[in-house]
Amino acid sequence: MSPLIPPPWPPSPPGLGGGALPSPLSGPLRDPALDRAGVVLRLKRDDLIHPDVPGNKWRKLSLNLRAALEAGHTRLLTFGGAYSHHVAAVAAAAAAAGLGSTGVIRGEELAGAPRNAVLARAEADGMALAFVSRAEYRATLRALGEPETARALRERFGRCYVLPEGGSNALGARGAAATVEELTDLGPGDVVCCAVGTGGTLAGLAAALPPGARALGVAVLKGGAGYLEGEVARLHAAGWGRTFPGAWRIEHGHHHGGYGRVPVGLAAFAAAFEERHQVAVERRYVAKMLHAVHALAGTAALPPGTRVTAVVTGPPTPESPPAGRAPAHAPARSPGGRPSSG
Ligand SMILES: *Cc1c(COP(=O)(O)O)cnc(C)c1O
Repeated sequence: MSPLIPPPWPPSPPGLGGGALPSPLSGPLRDPALDRAGVVLRLKRDDLIHPDVPGNKWRKLSLNLRAALEAGHTRLLTFGGAYSHHVAAVAAAAAAAGLGSTGVIRGEELAGAPRNAVLARAEADGMALAFVSRAEYRATLRALGEPETARALRERFGRCYVLPEGGSNALGARGAAATVEELTDLGPGDVVCCAVGTGGTLAGLAAALPPGARALGVAVLKGGAGYLEGEVARLHAAGWGRTFPGAWRIEHGHHHGGYGRVPVGLAAFAAAFEERHQVAVERRYVAKMLHAVHALAGTAALPPGTRVTAVVTGPPTPESPPAGRAPAHAPARSPGGRPSSG
């Protein structure tokens, strides 16, 4: 663990009110289809942690916020698309901690357009928005770790604590590990499931598992196979100094057309799940993860006898990209093969 971070673990980030920790665990749920498949489902309700910095965004920001404050930073800077939950969470967290914030947003054509609910909220929280072309966005993120990039960002935006897309750096992944640390009854036969955007949450969950338990990530974007596995392994090396082979896996066949896409069949599944279990289901990530659990229950991925703990990584958000088509910031594969999400 970074020497920057004092005990106790998990820490409560200054200014964030500590969050409602541990987050509630609900279930086993009564679900006829899962019963038939011999799979038990529980929900880890990280969506209830904090009203403005929900779910895995709170987890991933917790240690970063602490590190930023301890290093004397007065401003957070991060990156995202126009509908990024992470950008909104950083704006809210910075405001709560008394810090300034800057959001570098993909899509220079959005600069003059009316703000969607996510960006309007971020601005209301005091975030300065900088709209950049997709090419510049990609190039900056690809070289984020390099001194050259750090200098360019400092020249343009001032001294900032820089968070990567999704908040998924080593401290972010370590913060996400706390979800599993709150699940004290895990063992062989347990599978912890989450949606995968950048992989930071999955990396944290997988690293904290006891022997025999496994983590299953469900990619919500198309074309991430290989790249996302590399990201998780990179975060493991950066955060834990080792890898965790065999403890985790990513399913790539459950993105329903790609990032931000919510076809009617998926929406219907989510609505039925909400009705059956009285829990609000966020559509772009959580619905895809829960749908995959149902699709895989009883197969080799989740054989009979498996207990699934599905991490509800966030609540529904007020505005989603226009239904049925790609959002304006539709992820595109970069020349380096890097797909991109929120
Ligand atoms: C951001 C987000 C994710 C993706 O998490 P990663 O750590 O980027 O993989 C999953 N679920 C919800 C609800 C999110 O908002």
